[in-house]
Amino acid sequence: MAKINGIKKKPRTAMVAGGAGFLGSHLCDSLIASGRRVICIDSLLTGSEENLRQFDREPNFDLIVSDVTRPIPPALKADEIYNLACPASPPHYQADPVHTMLTSVLGAHKLLERARLCQARYVQASTSEIYGDPEQHPQREDYCGNVNTTGPRACYDEGKRAAEALCYDFRRAETDVRVARIFNTYGPRMRADDGRIVSNFVTQALSGEPITVYGDGRQTRSFCYVSDMVAGLEALMNVPEAPDTPINLGNPGEFSVGELASKVLEMTGSASTLSYRPLPTDDPRRRKPDVSRAREILGWRPLVDLKEGLAPTIEWFAAQQPAEGPVVQA
Ligand code: NAD
Ligand code: UDP
Repeated sequence: MAKINGIKKKPRTAMVAGGAGFLGSHLCDSLIASGRRVICIDSLLTGSEENLRQFDREPNFDLIVSDVTRPIPPALKADEIYNLACPASPPHYQADPVHTMLTSVLGAHKLLERARLCQARYVQASTSEIYGDPEQHPQREDYCGNVNTTGPRACYDEGKRAAEALCYDFRRAETDVRVARIFNTYGPRMRADDGRIVSNFVTQALSGEPITVYGDGRQTRSFCYVSDMVAGLEALMNVPEAPDTPINLGNPGEFSVGELASKVLEMTGSASTLSYRPLPTDDPRRRKPDVSRAREILGWRPLVDLKEGLAPTIEWFAAQQPAEGPVVQA
């Protein structure tokens, strides 16, 4: 228990749903480092206990292996709830699309109910996929998006949109809700078989396999390093007044898929060739966040540029001996 002016003070408790995943485990690291007690709820669908090994002897950390579509044990109370529970990579969220949709909607509902009961602050990990294949560029929070409701990405995009709608219904009923629209984030602890661009390109380059470029490689994304994203999520939780709209969190540096392939090849010194594959259905053509609201309201901005963030990511993948190779979309 922390002591402040000689008085024992109970640490704040943060509940992190999805805390065994890539982003969630880094968030847990930072929350524990800030003196919080952390309760992680995770079904281990795409996350792993390996990501939480550092807490094996940590008295302030508990992992509850449970699906957020199931009731949350009543004894679990928190001052802060982060909802990151949802597979984020297209091959993973499309593997069981009905469960993805239910995870977003039922999971958000259960965690929002818990926030209401505990009078906790709630941060929702929403996504740039809210904007679909955007007609507005860069994307601002007031853009309502262009999402195909019937395509294979809809389970994720529309699930996250429905979760945002729930968030604002709870907010109108006085729950302290904050929504982060997260843009593509990468870094150590992504799975080699995650299927997203950075993990695929880095593992392919390191093993000398062809780099799988979908479409002509001219589509763009903006890549945020994981430490910046964690700082943004915490800043959103910690800002005293809940912002009245969602907040974009991402790095506005915009790169085409082809440019990312070149950068990874250059940084790994790999001789991998490029292998062009069909563009997946509804793959957004471009994406770049307008982060002025995050700057104004949270005082947050990303600090790590692509080259700086790729270096430790490549180093981390090089140190792994992946049981699984990259997952490539059909
Ligand atoms: P991830 O797949 O590594 O992590 C998701 C975690 O949620 C995993 O640990 C998984 O086991 C858990 N989970 C999934 N379904 C669950 C369920 N029904 N019940 C309990 N736990 C469940 O993905 P990530 O990249 O770390 O993403 C974390 C969150 O951030 C997700 O909600 C995702 O939508 C959001 N997000 C991430 C990105 C990104 O680029 N990383 C971009 C936009 C939004
Ligand atoms: N992509 C690619 N090759 C891969 C994986 C992804 O060309 O092996 C492309 C994909 O088509 C998309 C971009 O990279 O245009 C980002 O894909 P990712 O799955 O990482 O994220 P999302 O599409 O959800 O933004």
